[in-house]
Amino acid sequence: SGVSVETDVAVIGAGPVGLFAVFECGMLRMRCVVVDALDAIGGQCSALYPEKPIFDIPAHPQIEGAALIERLEAQAAPFTPLYLLGRRVERLRELDGEWEIATSAGDHIRAKAVILAAGAGAFGPNRPPLEGLAGYEASGAVRYLVARREDFRGARVVIAGGGDSAVDWALSLKEVAAKVTVVHRRPKFRAAPESAARLDQAAARGEVEMAIPYQLHGLEGDGSRLTGVVLSTMKGETRSVPADHLLPFYGLSMELGPIADWGLGLERSHVAVNPATCETNLPGVHAIGDIATYPGKLKLILQGFSEAAMAAHAIHPRVFPGEALHFEYSTSKGVPAG
Ligand code: FAD
Repeated sequence: SGVSVETDVAVIGAGPVGLFAVFECGMLRMRCVVVDALDAIGGQCSALYPEKPIFDIPAHPQIEGAALIERLEAQAAPFTPLYLLGRRVERLRELDGEWEIATSAGDHIRAKAVILAAGAGAFGPNRPPLEGLAGYEASGAVRYLVARREDFRGARVVIAGGGDSAVDWALSLKEVAAKVTVVHRRPKFRAAPESAARLDQAAARGEVEMAIPYQLHGLEGDGSRLTGVVLSTMKGETRSVPADHLLPFYGLSMELGPIADWGLGLERSHVAVNPATCETNLPGVHAIGDIATYPGKLKLILQGFSEAAMAAHAIHPRVFPGEALHFEYSTSKGVPAG
């Protein structure tokens, strides 16, 4: 299973910086394949703060995480990248001066160069250990992120967790959902105090039901369509809450995972690069964005954008050996019709 493709540049990570790298490579006529562990592009912007405004993207006095990703996708689109989503890059190895990448979905990508834009590593939700979970995940009944609040209009929603995401989404979804139940193991929430206080007030007004101290125990339904969530106390007493959706917010973890085994020079879980080219200790493997480190590195999207441009220019001679690269402005070159 999986696809077998050849490309100029394999981009590992579809966060904002990986997406902009597709554009920068495209401007230099280099084709990209982009792989991400998440099902959606956008990295931290999509997974952690799609509706939060960002204030330090040049020329955007403010732009929400999801909107920034939409625009980066549109900017990269004329260069028709191949996105391979929902799979983790497991292996990177050199093959006759090129690079071969293997993913968890069985894909094999052969590339002349690699841009590692992997943030803090592959994203994955912390999943509750519930029987039959996979079927309800596949149908969208159980979700770990809310892409659109409207998806939950009129639905009965159970939210599990005690952090900011659980509290913020409970407050937000109660405006559209038929019913919101919050399941937490203890009365104290690890959320911003003012949000936790607002949740208490909403509960007191009966707008949100609090199931405390409970934890998730089981799922009810036909294996795909959810009808209820079974909760249990620490003593093992159970009760069932009718539900169409379960949103467990037990945090996302990003783990460097396999990246640590590829022979890259690491400095405290970041990949050390030459700041002039973003090249790592492996020739033809460049690291940009949050994962890259060098003296003066700022973990900001705007710095990642500039690293994408530097990496693309540094990679060009590998993809087009012997061909002179004349520096050109985008204004004189233009982009292909998308
Ligand atoms: P990421 O966005 O982390 O994306 C990396 C992607 O690589 C992930 O999707 C991951 O799944 C994937 N990946 C990693 N390893 C693998 C693998 N082995 N196989 C497949 N896929 C893999 N920055 C700002 O500049 N301004 C702000 O105002 C700002 N606000 C923020 C607010 C919050 C709440 C947070 C959490 C961050 C904020 N940041 C902000 C930081 C900003 O989001 C990051 O700097 C940015 O997302 C880094 O982009 P990236 O593309 O390098 O990596």
